[in-house]
Amino acid sequence: MLLPEEVSRYSRQLLLSEIGVGGQEKLKKAKVLIVGAGGLGSPVAMYLAAAGVGTIGIADFDQIDLSNLQRQIAYISKDIGKQKSEVISAHLKEMNPLVNIITHNAALTGKNAFDILKDYQIAVDCSDNFQTRYLLNDACVLLGKPYVYGSVSELKGQASVFYAKEGPCYRCLYPEPPSLALKPCMTSGVLGVLPGVIGCIMANEVLKLAIGKQSVQPKLLTGRLLLFSAWEASFDELKILKDESCLVCGREPSIKELIDYEEFCGLKKNGSACFSLAPHSP
Ligand SMILES: [Zn+2]
Repeated sequence: MLLPEEVSRYSRQLLLSEIGVGGQEKLKKAKVLIVGAGGLGSPVAMYLAAAGVGTIGIADFDQIDLSNLQRQIAYISKDIGKQKSEVISAHLKEMNPLVNIITHNAALTGKNAFDILKDYQIAVDCSDNFQTRYLLNDACVLLGKPYVYGSVSELKGQASVFYAKEGPCYRCLYPEPPSLALKPCMTSGVLGVLPGVIGCIMANEVLKLAIGKQSVQPKLLTGRLLLFSAWEASFDELKILKDESCLVCGREPSIKELIDYEEFCGLKKNGSACFSLAPHSP
């Protein structure tokens, strides 16, 4: 049941036959975990809270740095030095007091990933490093949950939905993390608006996953890699096939527990973790 305040707040969504009261009630019941509260996590969290996703978890261990403000739009200058998870949670609660925000002030690891993920239906990868990406993919495959993926670097971004029950997982596309020796990980530049574009696409996928079919079945990015070039103002799309020999979602998977890739890519605990796109073009 929607409260009178919810009927008013979400009235422009309720008018859509693709959402309606049934879809809004599903959003209210939805539990979504956002991993990473940076450039991608800011728009994803803000749009999901505004749309009325009932429970939003924010997992982030980082603090706000001056250099974040060019693209991490949930934060303002006076937030510098504070914990991202705490600042964004307070911001979301002010935006929409009707949604429940849960803060996980921690990095996702092989030890805590199942525990953090177990109560959520959908995970959103707004991380900026390969460790978290592979960990989240494997955890979602092993728990049977969908995972909305996005990444950005320089002037390009990509997004997809990985759901091993219905299509490929991230390892079907990129089986192994890049070798540190072969792919030295450097902090690259990024156009500030780019995580905004990709983050909005990710939020859109989350909403469709949560709402499902009301009047019309939504078409998801499952099995599709959406590519966006900011400088060329162009979208492209690649088909991703499920790999029957995938290490984690294939017929005979060898990965049955979570792996912590601690050393590669030089993840720093306090700030400039590498902000990079997928290691190679598919
Ligand atoms: Zn797979």
